[in-house]
Amino acid sequence: MGEKTMPVTGGCLCGAIRYESTEPPNWVVCCHCRICQQAHGQLFDVGVEFPGEAFRYTKGEVTYYQSSPWAKRGFCANCGSPVDTWYKDDSDPIVHIGSLDHPEDWPLERHVGIESKVPWHVIGDDLPQRQTDVSKHVEAAKAQEFYSARESSRLGG
Ligand SMILES: [Zn+2]
Ligand SMILES: [Zn+2]
Repeated sequence: MGEKTMPVTGGCLCGAIRYESTEPPNWVVCCHCRICQQAHGQLFDVGVEFPGEAFRYTKGEVTYYQSSPWAKRGFCANCGSPVDTWYKDDSDPIVHIGSLDHPEDWPLERHVGIESKVPWHVIGDDLPQRQTDVSKHVEAAKAQEFYSARESSRLGG
């Protein structure tokens, strides 16, 4: 690998939100699970986790929603770009690799949520692949009106 730009910086499409990390990522993982697919409107999400103590927002304010019983996801309320994901009881944020100013610096390490990968999307690397079966949890959350309950409580103030 060549020189990496430090600190690691990034932000949303419109520039309203900016962040930096003074430490390199903990990991870079491609997740093919249904939650990532739907949250991004895409086939997968490449997440980059940073040590919480090294990470901070330098501009703007992230808007959050509860994307599952175990995680909340943040986005820019101005441009709609997904910005981060925080797991419950974990102080290390996960940002999305496309939001980095230099995504080329941090290569992918593995694939997870592989059971939900769309069959015609062919993975062209030989990195490790792992299952993370969240689909049944997503179905359970939908059955409990987890998402609509959040929405109406937000509308109700
Ligand atoms: Zn924005
Ligand atoms: Zn996922």
